[in-house]
Amino acid sequence: MLLEKHFKVGGWTHTFRRNNYEWDVGIHYIGEVHKPWSPIRRLFDRISDGELKWHKMDDNYDRIIFPDKHYNFICPKTRFIKELSDYFPDEKQAIQDYIQLIDQSVKTGVSYFGNKALPNLISNLSYPFMTRKFMSFAGRTTYDVISGLTKNEKLTGVLTGQWGDHGLPPRQSSFAMHAMVARHYLDGGNYPIGSARRIAETITDVIEKQGGKVAVNAGVDEICVKNGSAESVILENGDKLSAPIIISGSGILNTYGRFLRNHPHSKKFKERLKKVQQTESFICLFIGLNKSAQDLGIKNTNLWIYPGYDHDKNVSNYQSDQEAEFPVVYVSFPSAKDPVYQEKYPNNATMEAITLAHWSWWDKWGNGAWKKRGDEYEAEKENLSQRILNKVFKHVPKAKDALDYYELSTPLTVKSLANYPLGEMYGINHTPKRFKQRWLKPKTEIKGLYITGQDMFTVGVSSALLSGLATVSSILKKNMFKTL
Ligand SMILES: Cc1cc2nc3c(=O)[nH]c(=O)nc-3n(C[C@H](O)[C@H](O)[C@H](O)COP(=O)(O)OP(=O)(O)OC[C@H]3O[C@@H](n4cnc5c(N)ncnc54)[C@H](O)[C@@H]3O)c2cc1C
Repeated sequence: MLLEKHFKVGGWTHTFRRNNYEWDVGIHYIGEVHKPWSPIRRLFDRISDGELKWHKMDDNYDRIIFPDKHYNFICPKTRFIKELSDYFPDEKQAIQDYIQLIDQSVKTGVSYFGNKALPNLISNLSYPFMTRKFMSFAGRTTYDVISGLTKNEKLTGVLTGQWGDHGLPPRQSSFAMHAMVARHYLDGGNYPIGSARRIAETITDVIEKQGGKVAVNAGVDEICVKNGSAESVILENGDKLSAPIIISGSGILNTYGRFLRNHPHSKKFKERLKKVQQTESFICLFIGLNKSAQDLGIKNTNLWIYPGYDHDKNVSNYQSDQEAEFPVVYVSFPSAKDPVYQEKYPNNATMEAITLAHWSWWDKWGNGAWKKRGDEYEAEKENLSQRILNKVFKHVPKAKDALDYYELSTPLTVKSLANYPLGEMYGINHTPKRFKQRWLKPKTEIKGLYITGQDMFTVGVSSALLSGLATVSSILKKNMFKTL
């Protein structure tokens, strides 16, 4: 049985509609699934019974934009290297070395993440040699590693131009996380045909076909533990459901910080949570245009708009002054990525534009209910919407005349609808310290209780999915990765 707090299943993979528009909320592109033999594609095929289909984006999957120049990330890898070497002819060797390093880092992750799924005794004994190589990448910041390859700050700013995909600028993020994201997309991006909601729709069909049940509006409030074993959950409506095995995929803050609040070790669990930090939140402007992407000549390349090459400085300027330039505006074009969007919604197009937001700027309005937070809140949303639209129109001028609808989500929206306590964008931060947390693994010290999802592995739908396979491996005491 799957218990979902929201009125729709899918977490960040679901979509929503307003008027005649439909937007995704947390899926903009997924790498590797266009290759039928890739483990991620095979896993998606398995859990959707082959019903989930993918559309490859244009080869130019990302564009990194600075005030003086923009840089295209073009697949495949050989083309990426060539393009970047053309932008930075003196840095050819550094670019090649960089590609080698991200390859190495990702390869060493296989045994690091595999270790999490092993039975405790074997996992502990093998931990040092299964994780050492990976930790030599994960234990250093992205900036630290890249500055060992090049002193060219512009090249560094470009190579780290996808930092928004994991949430931390280069001086704070773990290089291993950076490498996973960069390599994931080196062969291009893909989008689910029929939009992101097809992920949950196809998987739900398979769960139900196998006799499983899926319940929405079924928020869990507590996990009950008796004689050291997890034995039931209490729902927010007071219902109690028993199960021999309980898996929590709703984030470690909810699991350890809330669901186990009455456990005798709750203090220890809360102490443990202090070793990780929650990611920043974000605001997202959902935009509806009254002409199709094709009519507007809009492509599906993601835009990353930056005020300067030093991402850490951009972020800290903004964190200390909300009126400072946005440290990033990421623009995605979901209707242009989905080849069947137009069948359902002819003559319109959708866009999304995202930037960071700090929880403390918004929590003063937190007491109001969703959509009823008052005039001041609405005025702040309007102010930010206009600031974002100005940025968007500068880089997508054709969107201005076709603008028909916009709506801003805030950190409070994220808390209300995705249940991340501080409106976190990506669960917990991908710092070097995060990767040292050995307790971030499927099997908890409570018998019958397991965790899964992005907090256990890393951000990203593919990673959250692989973490599911690790959890299943741990429960069945069988290496399920070998079955792919
Ligand atoms: C704006 C944005 C853009 C993104 N873009 C991409 C992208 O382009 N590509 C990519 O690969 N990844 C992307 N991601 C990341 C990706 O969406 C996530 O890493 C992934 O979906 C996390 O999956 P999860 O199952 O771990 O968590 P979630 O998707 O958050 O699922 C957790 C589920 O638990 C439910 N829940 C919470 N509390 C309770 C409770 N008390 N009881 C019952 N249920 C509960 C939630 O409602 C939710 O359905 C993006 C994320 C965001 C926010």
